[in-house]
Amino acid sequence: MNIHEYQGKSILKSFGVAIQEGRVADTPEAAHAAAVELAEATGTSWFVVKAQIHAGGRGKGTVTETGSRGVVLAKGLDEVKDKAAGILGGHLVTAQTNAQGKQVNKVLIAEDVYGPGDSEPKEIYMSVLLDRAKGRNIIMYSPQGGMDIEAVAEETPELIFKEEIDPTVGLQGFQARRVAFNLGLSGKAFKEMTKFVTSLYNAYVGCDATMFEINPVLKTSDDRVIAVDSKVSLDGNALYRHPDYAAMRDTTEEDATEVEADAAGLNYVKLDGNVGCMVNGAGLAMATMDIIKLSGGEPANFLDVGGTADAARVEKAFRIILKDPAVKAILVNIFGGIVRCDRVAQGVVDAYRNMGDINVPIIVRLQGTNAIEAKELIDNSGLKVISAVLLKEAADAVAEVLA
Ligand code: GDP
Ligand code: MN
Repeated sequence: MNIHEYQGKSILKSFGVAIQEGRVADTPEAAHAAAVELAEATGTSWFVVKAQIHAGGRGKGTVTETGSRGVVLAKGLDEVKDKAAGILGGHLVTAQTNAQGKQVNKVLIAEDVYGPGDSEPKEIYMSVLLDRAKGRNIIMYSPQGGMDIEAVAEETPELIFKEEIDPTVGLQGFQARRVAFNLGLSGKAFKEMTKFVTSLYNAYVGCDATMFEINPVLKTSDDRVIAVDSKVSLDGNALYRHPDYAAMRDTTEEDATEVEADAAGLNYVKLDGNVGCMVNGAGLAMATMDIIKLSGGEPANFLDVGGTADAARVEKAFRIILKDPAVKAILVNIFGGIVRCDRVAQGVVDAYRNMGDINVPIIVRLQGTNAIEAKELIDNSGLKVISAVLLKEAADAVAEVLA
């Protein structure tokens, strides 16, 4: 689950990570009030107004309606309201959004940590993530942080460093010091960085994150080390341990069909192909997608209906699959282990009759308990459903209807 910058920063702060302080607001007036409060709390006189959307590249992005950037500096309290008005309610287009951009409902008013008198702020890149090949968490970092990190990775990959963490002992002191050393820091900044890295790693483990990206981490000219941005992804499967993080979910940022499927208890992920899939079990769903590709099709989605494939769930799943106009055929592949195949077949037939308006061919493959009865039920239903017993038959039937 992705969360907003301001939410990520609040989690980091709760683990003792030094952050750029800020207040969130959803109107220009509230933005002004937030800046007043922030000035009192931190003593800052300049502010950064930052669009809160689930996409990066905001600093270089443009708000379609106003031409404003997604991150702007306000050199004084009197500038905050107008700058916030230039962002709020608009659509921010960045390198990480589509052409429509994302509507901005909130801005973060943050203290200016570069400072009017700061001649040499240093922008550092730092992320924590799982290296799947190694099976370990790594800290990835670079002294060349800031808005051009993608170019650094491409042109000067030697400036991207990695520190691999042994899960049995966690991040060691010498590793945190190596990070600070490779970043070219010394003195107070060196110490601040070792503290920063250590608390950041503790936060990553403690909040069950799947990814942290802090770009930039700022070293100020008075040698403080601060998280200026935060991109935080939390492990959705661990949210039951963190009800306060679960409440941070912003469904307006997610794919509407995926949200609807999730609410119905269906595991649905939209893909780019033309064959809709309805399957029980994630492993079988993956195998089904493979066999569709082998027969020359492209899966339009991943969908795991779960263990109880009754008529109501099957109908809901059909409706969700059919919201995608690219779907030209649907392959239903259910293994009847706990659930009996004839009951699933009845569910498919009922759903088909109830919906009435399904105009794509449906290939149903049921295997397991009462598979023969299920096939008979479908063959005798009089509906335009094609039944198959073997997976290969089902895949060939898909290829045939698409041809
Ligand atoms: P992103 O573009 O979506 O990654 O948003 P960031 O939070 O990284 O902000 C973009 C850029 O705004 C940063 O790389 C900084 O250069 C700049 N920025 C952020 N905070 C401040 C600040 O306090 N003062 C100044 N002057 N610039 C800032
Ligand atoms: Mn950033």
